Amino acid sequence: MDLSCRVTGGTKVQKHIAHTTIGFCVRKLFPSIRKLDLNICIKKFKADDDAIGYCQVDTCEPFDYVRTSPRRFKVEISKALDLMSFIRVLCHEMVHVKQFIKEELTDTDSGQSKWKSKVYSHNTPYMDCPWEKEAYKQEDALLWECLLTTQINISGENKE
Ligand SMILES: [Zn+2]
Repeated sequence: MDLSCRVTGGTKVQKHIAHTTIGFCVRKLFPSIRKLDLNICIKKFKADDDAIGYCQVDTCEPFDYVRTSPRRFKVEISKALDLMSFIRVLCHEMVHVKQFIKEELTDTDSGQSKWKSKVYSHNTPYMDCPWEKEAYKQEDALLWECLLTTQINISGENKE
């Protein structure tokens, strides 16, 4: 597996938690993937931003991945979250990564979102988007399993 996961920003402990959580999600959600390039950015979100995490396809070098679904992603997460929320939001964003990899979710040329075969406009309420419903439905189970199986310890030592 050619897995690259860069984590920028945040504290040493947050970086450790991010690497551990991402590793868990990759093994759980797409264990057979051969190539993946993730940029995780732990940052301060603007006060007027309701979101606490983002996931987007990072297409700066799409020629790396000709004729495959996206393999390069940028995930942004708020550095102000408590530990459980931090892991939960990372799990949520990794469900979106899974959706892009499996091409359940795609961006259309006009910048809208397509879920399976149906196009959703920008005006679709957030919680009516099927990709959000799936991510919210899965994030808690992923959080619990991540805690159980990865032995996350907050001393900052990475056992992986
Ligand atoms: Zn989401």
